[in-house]
Amino acid sequence: MGWAIALHGGAGDIPVDIPAERREPREAALRRILQIGVSALNAKRSPLDVVELVVCELENCPHFNAGKGSVLTANGTVEMEACIMDGNTKKCGAVSGVTTVVNPVSLARRIMEKTPHVYLAFDGAEAFARQQGLGTMDNSHFITPENIERLKQAKEANRVQQDYSQPIKPKERDGDSKLGTVGCVAVDSLGNLAAATSTGGLVNKMAGRIGDTPLVGAGTYANKLCAISATGRGEAIIRETVARDVAAVMEYKGLGLKEAAAYIVDQVAPKGTTGLIGVSAKGEVAMPFNTTGMFRACATEDGLMEVAIWKTE
Ligand code: ASP
Repeated sequence: MGWAIALHGGAGDIPVDIPAERREPREAALRRILQIGVSALNAKRSPLDVVELVVCELENCPHFNAGKGSVLTANGTVEMEACIMDGNTKKCGAVSGVTTVVNPVSLARRIMEKTPHVYLAFDGAEAFARQQGLGTMDNSHFITPENIERLKQAKEANRVQQDYSQPIKPKERDGDSKLGTVGCVAVDSLGNLAAATSTGGLVNKMAGRIGDTPLVGAGTYANKLCAISATGRGEAIIRETVARDVAAVMEYKGLGLKEAAAYIVDQVAPKGTTGLIGVSAKGEVAMPFNTTGMFRACATEDGLMEVAIWKTE
């Protein structure tokens, strides 16, 4: 068995007619960042290092809804959250409500490794990031003009929306405002697994809202069988404990990763709400979704490589 890696840039109602100039930079970013993960796995970096590295790259890319490029709260601010988990030890770290931390996933890892806790949020998380010397920037650094426009639209329509929701005005249905939560899962050739997810959440979310991304077992989970990162409508993913449920179905029903992930996405999670990426200790990859699309990419040591948005079969 060889290594395997998968990453996502968010699931949602992604229109199939996104103009090429909007779609291609995102596909190119997925391809470039996938390659960074592949090189790290080939260099025998641990899956935990690989998922952190890949998610940092995705956070730094303004095309996605995490780190710089995060969507805005109803107050017009950015509140980011992230989670990382190591499958062997089940050690995990999570963070919510950070407004200045450049790479929330790295803060999540520090919480996992340098505190007796799993989860820090808001002021305490900010203070810990500074104590650890992690990079910080003023909140305005994370805010893009596209996200200011998307918040305006969401407020006009009086709704809290997923990052890929169709813009409200037909003339604006050009895909420009389509961004996405990010995640990465990886397994090495010894079967060591790790998962990480990072997000700005939902457009026009209430200040203080916490989604599925940082919640262990909902948006992110890893054990000795599999590593999972979910994306979509956070409230639905939390209610169905999507990431842990995939692992539980593998564990208790003896299903393989693909069957377990398809079961949860097709039979359990409400339609139009959920996508996930997963890898198993056996090196399998699954990337199902019940939304219109999911920005995603994967590679395996034996030569599989895929970058896709909509259903491929
Ligand atoms: N799941 C994220 C949230 O609800 C959003 C997303 O995946 O796009 O915060």
